[in-house]
Amino acid sequence: MLADLVFRNAQLADQPGPVDIAVRDGRIVAIGANIRCDAVTEEDVDGNFAFPGFVDSHIHLDKACILERCTICAGTLEEAVRETAKAKAGFSEEDVFERASAVVRQAIVHGTTHMRTFVEIDPRAGMRAFEAIKRVRERFKFAIDIQICAFAQEGFTQEPETEGMLDEALRTGADLIGGCPYTDLRPEEHIRRIFALARKHDVDVDFHLDFSLDPKKTDLPAVIEATQANAYGGRVTIGHVTNLSALDPAARSIIARKIAAAGIAVTVLPATDLFLMGRDQQFNIARGVTPAHLMLKDGVRAAIATNNILNPFTPFGDASLMRMANLYANVMQLSRDEDIDAVFHMVGAHAATIKRVPYGLAVGAVADVVILDAQDHRSSVRSGAQTLAGWKAGRKTFVRSRPQLFEPNVG
Ligand SMILES: [Zn+2]
Repeated sequence: MLADLVFRNAQLADQPGPVDIAVRDGRIVAIGANIRCDAVTEEDVDGNFAFPGFVDSHIHLDKACILERCTICAGTLEEAVRETAKAKAGFSEEDVFERASAVVRQAIVHGTTHMRTFVEIDPRAGMRAFEAIKRVRERFKFAIDIQICAFAQEGFTQEPETEGMLDEALRTGADLIGGCPYTDLRPEEHIRRIFALARKHDVDVDFHLDFSLDPKKTDLPAVIEATQANAYGGRVTIGHVTNLSALDPAARSIIARKIAAAGIAVTVLPATDLFLMGRDQQFNIARGVTPAHLMLKDGVRAAIATNNILNPFTPFGDASLMRMANLYANVMQLSRDEDIDAVFHMVGAHAATIKRVPYGLAVGAVADVVILDAQDHRSSVRSGAQTLAGWKAGRKTFVRSRPQLFEPNVG
């Protein structure tokens, strides 16, 4: 068999024992036991778990790592938006490029091969952050596919310039549009105009939505209606929807089935939701994380993602989706195999359906391969396994060494 790279002894999710993976011209040409081929490069995976890498369906590269420029007192969503808006006015293109590049490097070594980043475009940010993130997308395409969502974080009906700027971004390299009805004075009009821009440029839509613990305060019916009116099923995602965490299971399930029927996907952002929700409570504080794994059972396409790193929305982070999966499983009190499976898929295969990219180690697929220091995906989520190495389209992008311990001889 003709191949230029072969992985030996890789444990895959759907195989009883380790197999070999042969790669030619960046694509997988064979998967099986003891593949005979003339590959120049052989990589011994040593029975560790191999998969196509993590998919981060929701991250904000432009406002990452600005903690020292902001003051966090209340720890609320309103404060986070306000403090970030102040810092944003001082962003230069180079500043955004450097901070975003550092985060993307972390994401790559943590095994992320696909990402959707939001980029704020408004009179404060100008087009500077957008220009920087386009350069980041180009700079790191050897290791990660980055999708750029032109995002109106601070609404836009009250800031008419923003609409034209989003339009320009969609003409000059943005992949999709993002809205934020809860910061707009006219949420329904905001939703209508976001869809109008999406239709004009034939791009997908991603909303930050219903970011509170009050189920009565909701823009979801308007998003469902607009999705149906624009025949946009399969092309709309909503992030946070923390207010669904405040509903009893039966009520939440009714809404989840409506979301599924409309073809809307959900991304849950545990690190941010845990930090910002329930700030009016002094004890028994609500977790504020919507149970995405239960929404899967109602037919919703759901993912878990990073959202923010080291800023007033989330003063933590390292762009590791393994850490996020482990955090989510712990917060949601999960232990059963089927639930851990769901968590793993929500940072992989399910998240890929949101970005609408093919995903899976199969013959004919692009050879994106990440090796985890674990025997299988379940133990990796439970232990928060480290990555060992990664390839993008058959090109090696990183290695990470195991720590070495020097124990004295005993006995
Ligand atoms: Zn977000």
